[in-house]
Amino acid sequence: MNYNDFFVSALDKLRDERRYRVFADLERIAGRFPHAYWHSPEGKRDVVIWCSNDYLGMAQHPQVIGAMVDVAARMGTGAGGTRNIAGTNHPLVELERELADLHGKPGALLFTSGYVSNQTGIPTIAKLLPNCLILSDALNHNSMIEGVRQAGCDKVVWRHNDMAHLEELLKAADPERPKLIIFESLYSMDGDIAPIHAICDLADKYGAMTYCDEVHAVGMYGPRGGGVTERDGAAHRVDVIEGTLAKAFGCLGGYITGSTELIDAVRSYAPGFIFTTALPPAICAAATAAIRHLKTSQWERDRHQDRAARVKAVLNAVGLPVMPSTTHIVPLMIGNAEKCKMASDMLLEDHGIYIQPINYPTVPRGEERLRITPSPYHDDVLIDALAEALVDVWERLQLPKNRIALAAE
Ligand code: PLP
Repeated sequence: MNYNDFFVSALDKLRDERRYRVFADLERIAGRFPHAYWHSPEGKRDVVIWCSNDYLGMAQHPQVIGAMVDVAARMGTGAGGTRNIAGTNHPLVELERELADLHGKPGALLFTSGYVSNQTGIPTIAKLLPNCLILSDALNHNSMIEGVRQAGCDKVVWRHNDMAHLEELLKAADPERPKLIIFESLYSMDGDIAPIHAICDLADKYGAMTYCDEVHAVGMYGPRGGGVTERDGAAHRVDVIEGTLAKAFGCLGGYITGSTELIDAVRSYAPGFIFTTALPPAICAAATAAIRHLKTSQWERDRHQDRAARVKAVLNAVGLPVMPSTTHIVPLMIGNAEKCKMASDMLLEDHGIYIQPINYPTVPRGEERLRITPSPYHDDVLIDALAEALVDVWERLQLPKNRIALAAE
């Protein structure tokens, strides 16, 4: 048997469906965000990145870099093992305190990524609730879906952000049964926001626990960067707030925050916590520096929103199909996997603009798109250059424009 043939045919399937993924070989340039070098087949080229989840450019902030370098020099690189084997490094203890404070919770627990925090946090919590029923928003991230799968308990999916449907499902469930409602505060592919208070009202009414993924909101929303739960004054109503250190905080790692007892129980039972090496001290120190900076500096948040609003306005004005979004995410619908990939290639090769195509399974088939994430450092000149490049690509690929622009033509 030629085992390799199985892999070849799996890859051929992706190529046939036009969703075989190619990653650009990029070298980010500290201090020149969002500029980077692209190691193209023809050599090194200057490009502008328009799709990074380093939303606020904190991965290149001097205080964050300084904290990482200082701690690496003093404490070394690795953590030396799992926390059960090697103990906890002190910068990690400080980081957990910082995170608990950020969300106004008694406790926080760190994982090696946001993905792992959902994948192991959700099933661990659900398994500790006898006969738990999980209620999950239809657009929840894959890490949450995997967490639900591993929980092995009953689950029901409610239509995205549809409170009437959530209530219907809660009402149908046995009132005595423990229930866990899981949702995101900000959905990163469409850029829309969950009605957090309404979800908590239903949770109160039907006696359910709530678990909110704030991965795409921490650092960026709320007066101290505590996310949409903080912005909406709802953090105290949500039982578990989960987040990442890898996006607006510019580092790596994930976490959950909640009551002392819940955090202690997850620490004691979660395989994805117990059996893997802890985050290195230098990464923890860098993340703490980013969180502390964003707790007091409003400049990045204000400028971020200003840039996102400007990108939406300019792209709408030239007739591009900007999907409605009330947040910093600017999705541009293409609706075709092949054209989405071609548009991305043309932007990179002909205009020095990097925007990764978003294809199935990240979004449903037929909803392929470009997902633009303006940062505080994308100035007006870069925005105008983006609009010109997109118009050129739209015309060459004969992609649909928005309805208002079509009516005017
Ligand atoms: N949760 C959501 C909603 C996400 O979109 C992502 C990743 O993009 C994650 C969790 C995983 O976070 P991390 O990148 O820290 O693993």
